[in-house]
Order: sequence, then C-alpha cells, then structure tokens
Amino acid sequence: MPDFSSSRRAVVGAGVATAAAWVAGCAVSPKAARPRVVVVGGGWGGLGAARTLATSGQVAVTMIEPNDRFMSCPLSAHYVAGFGREADYQRSYANIDRQGIQRVRERVTEIDRSAAVVVAGGQRIGYDFLVLSPGIDYMEEAVQGYAAAREQLPVGFRAFEQAAVRRQVDAFLERGGEFVITVPKPPLRCPPAPYERAFLIAAQMKRRGTKGKVIIVDASPNPMPMPIAAPIVGAMKSLYAAQIEYVTNTEVSAVDIGRRLLVTPTGDIGFTAANMVLPMRAPALIRSARLGERWAAVKLPSFLSQADDKIYVVGDAQGTPLPKSGHLAFGCGKQVAADIVRRIAGQPAPVASGPVTLPGAICWAAVTHDEAIMINVTPSVEAGQPPKLAFQVDPRHNKASGQGSLQWGDSMWNQMLG
Ligand SMILES: Cc1cc2nc3c(=O)[nH]c(=O)nc-3n(C[C@H](O)[C@H](O)[C@H](O)COP(=O)(O)OP(=O)(O)OC[C@H]3O[C@@H](n4cnc5c(N)ncnc54)[C@H](O)[C@@H]3O)c2cc1C
Repeated sequence: MPDFSSSRRAVVGAGVATAAAWVAGCAVSPKAARPRVVVVGGGWGGLGAARTLATSGQVAVTMIEPNDRFMSCPLSAHYVAGFGREADYQRSYANIDRQGIQRVRERVTEIDRSAAVVVAGGQRIGYDFLVLSPGIDYMEEAVQGYAAAREQLPVGFRAFEQAAVRRQVDAFLERGGEFVITVPKPPLRCPPAPYERAFLIAAQMKRRGTKGKVIIVDASPNPMPMPIAAPIVGAMKSLYAAQIEYVTNTEVSAVDIGRRLLVTPTGDIGFTAANMVLPMRAPALIRSARLGERWAAVKLPSFLSQADDKIYVVGDAQGTPLPKSGHLAFGCGKQVAADIVRRIAGQPAPVASGPVTLPGAICWAAVTHDEAIMINVTPSVEAGQPPKLAFQVDPRHNKASGQGSLQWGDSMWNQMLG
C-alpha cells in the first residue's frame, strides 16, 4: 500500500515519491491508480468529506451508508411537533451518484485496520484512507427497563427515527396528559434539541387547546452548556409557563413501562407519552476497532485517530469537547478531505504558529414555529492546550433567527446534496 505518512518529514520524503508514482500510474490507468478513500456514513460529516474528495478528482471515493436517502435532524423538530412534513427534511443522494462517488448501501460491521472495512453482506472494501462519520449510539443500558420499552419511548435523535417520536406527539396532542422529555448529562448531540422539541410541542398545545403539560426532566441543573441556559429558560418562562414544567438535577435510572413511570432518585414521574433522550456514545464500530472508549479519540486540529494514521473520525462520534453539531461535522468532513488530498500530493502539513480556528458550529433552537435562538460556536485549538469555544448566543428568541434557521437549512442541504 502507498505510504501517505502524516508526519511532516515523512510526507516530504515519501510523499514526493508517492505522488510521482500516482502520476505515473494515472498515465496508464487513471481510475485504478487513484488512491481509495472510504467514507463511512452519508450524514453531515460523511457528505462534507465525500463531496470534497470527489471534487478534488484525486481519489476514488466510496461512501457507505445504509439509508437510500438523507434525512436531516436539524430543523426536524418542526416535523416532530406537527408543523411540517417528513419529506421536507429529506433529500435524495442522486447528486452524490452523479459526482462519481461510489455509494454502497450497506452497514459497516467491522473495521479491519490492516486497511479494509467489512459490510453487513460480508464484502470487504479496501481503503488507503478511511473517514468515519457514523454518528451516535444510545446507551440503553443506562436506564433499566428501557430496552423492553424502546418502541414506546423513542429517542429520535438519528435520521428517520423522528417518525416514532411524531407518533407519540400526535397521540399526546389528541388526548392530553403528561408528555415527558428527558435530557441526559452532556455530551449529547445538539444540546438545545430536547428543549426545542418541548417548545414546539407546547406551541401546538396552545394552538390546539391540548390539556396537560410537557415535563422536561433534566439531569443537569440547567440547560447545558451554560451560555444557552438563560435564553432557553427565558423562553420557557415567558411563552410556556402554563404548558412546560421544568424538573432539574434529575437523572432517570429506570422505567416501569407497565405503570408508565420513570424512576428517579427523587421519586417517580408518571407519563402518558414520552420522548426519552438517552445518554449517548459513538457507535460500537468505533470501540470494536479500538479507536476509543465512549467516543473516538482524535488529534486536533487534524481529526486523525490517535490510534491509526490512516483513519480520520469526524462528526458526533469524535470525542473532543467540540459541540456535536451538523454544521461543525460538515466543516470537519471538508477539512479532513483537504488533508487527505494534501497528503496524497505529498505536500507538507501546515505548521501553526498560534491558535488554529476549527470548523464552527451553528445550532438553532426553535422556540415557536417562527422564532428561534441562534447558538454560534467558534472553536480554536493551540498545541498542547484543550480547545477553546467562543459562544455567540441570541440573548432572546426572535423572528430573524427563526428565518435564519430555515435559510441555513436550505443552504446546508444544498451544499451537502444539491
Ligand atoms: C433534533 C436535532 C436537532 C439538531 N439541530 C442542529 C442544528 O440546528 N445545527 C446543527 O449544526 N446540528 C444540529 N443537530 C446535530 C446534527 O444532526 C449532528 O451533529 C450531525 O448529524 C452529526 O453528523 P454525523 O455525520 O456525525 O452523523 P449523522 O449525520 O447522524 O450521520 C451518520 C450516518 O452514518 C450512518 N451510519 C451509522 N452507522 C453506520 C455504519 N455502521 N455503516 C455505514 N453507515 C453508518 C447513518 O445511517 C447516518 O446516515 C441536531 C440534532 C438533532 C437530533
């Protein structure tokens, strides 16, 4: 296999020779000679990587993704609460196919770190570089009794799972009662999302005159991270004091689905319907390949695996303190693709003389169907230091951010799949 070492010295030496070899190979058989990059996951991070790699024309790109189309988690709270159609948040992979990316509709079951992935059908797909962006898994074992109650207590924090939550919401809006949304301790995918769902369900209660309440059961003392706490709690109090009850410092340890009770150290909480947001971790694929424990261990600013010089991990599966945001995942996918192209070309790694700005995050918390809170995070990192996160958060929900969130969604989906 060609040597695309990431160290500056090795890249300059081996890289020049390697690039020459590829050029020579291209003259004979361009396709066969191109280095192979496999991207696991056709979500936010995977699409950022796959598109950028394909645009470079320097590599043969394979994207492995079990779903036949894309569905967005960002903005899907509107659908979950009955304000939109599921199809509004879905897009086709047709332009990925047109771009020459080989799309394999399978699930990767194993990473053989000698340079191949194995898919559910048993096929081995070899790579020179591997980009992993498989998203998250739920820690079902954290809540006793959850596995048996899964169907009735959906999390819905992964693409296409939103429909199961929508069914719970529809039943609640029809009949009333107590709709419980749990919030685990961080880190979690899109921390404002559970509150956003509560807001939009409460907005529907007002519109439809549903009797009952939404109970947010939060394992933390306030919405986390701290910069989002004031505007989220402010919206809760100013708009939904009659609809939302906010229970803090309360971690759910078990569920009694027969009696419809959540068990917590401070007493049981009854529910008619629930959206149980569980603690999260990287998918098992990451752990079984020894790329990390709860999350994949990566180096910053490169997002290269700490365990393997040919593997990059981006998106929510990576375990840095960066926000788990689609915007950031997409930016990191693009960044690692550029790094792979650089390594293949035998170019030296850029040497930073100060803090390096990393791809940023933009999360939106819809508060009504028209208004939202914008949460903008700019991360940076300096050698030997933990990353720094600079927050810019709307002090209060507003219509401009409501509009901005929709424009952002269109623009991102277009960049990923248009
Ligand atoms: C309700 C909600 C609201 C959100 N709002 C925002 C927002 O406003 N702004 C924002 O930036 N982010 C938001 N996010 C977060 C955003 O969705 C995630 O950060 C983003 O999806 C992470 O990208 P990813 O590539 O890591 O994972 P994903 O986008 O989940 O993609 C992972 C892909 O990998 C595939 N996959 C998984 N396992 C395998 C396997 N073994 N083999 C092959 N393929 C596999 C999956 O099918 C999936 O398509 C929100 C999330 C939620 C749940």
